Amino acid sequence: MSDTGDIAPLISVTGIEHDSVVNGLGFRTVVFLQGCPRHCRGCHNPESIPFEGGRQMTVWALFQEIIAGITPLTKGITFSGGDPLAQPAALLKIMELLKKERPRLDIWVYTGSVWEEIQSLPVIKPVMQLTDVLVDGPFIEEKKDFSCPFRGSNNQRLINIPETLTAGKIVELNL
Ligand code: SF4
Repeated sequence: MSDTGDIAPLISVTGIEHDSVVNGLGFRTVVFLQGCPRHCRGCHNPESIPFEGGRQMTVWALFQEIIAGITPLTKGITFSGGDPLAQPAALLKIMELLKKERPRLDIWVYTGSVWEEIQSLPVIKPVMQLTDVLVDGPFIEEKKDFSCPFRGSNNQRLINIPETLTAGKIVELNL
């Protein structure tokens, strides 16, 4: 692929972690996107909440940084935050690049919103078309539960998005 350094829009990134095993199944590159409209008590990542923080990158620069950390063992990419869905246009661009260039990688997205709130939003629908698993819902301290894989509280769900879209009703991962 040729250098497309001018790919817009910019994306605001808190940090990138390679080879994580706590943000989804298998070894994953996790991209923490900056900015979240919620202020959950006990938020796991409070520095990612302000929208004015983070590192401003082009989508192409982020793509290159993600790809640089991919190994044959990498199972997928996780977008966490912050709330990735707060930057839907930029998120869609990076997901399109990843699905085109690395189709074997699955994509997980964390959000503080619940599926029922976002499923019909026009800016979110195209993002969901490229999402394999959505971890939905805010962190609720009273529902904190260490027995739930990949989630902080037991109100949050691991939603299999392709199966949910096909079935027309929520299909959760059975973990
Ligand atoms: S939705 Fe997530 S990132 Fe946002 S405040 Fe709640 S726990 Fe923190």
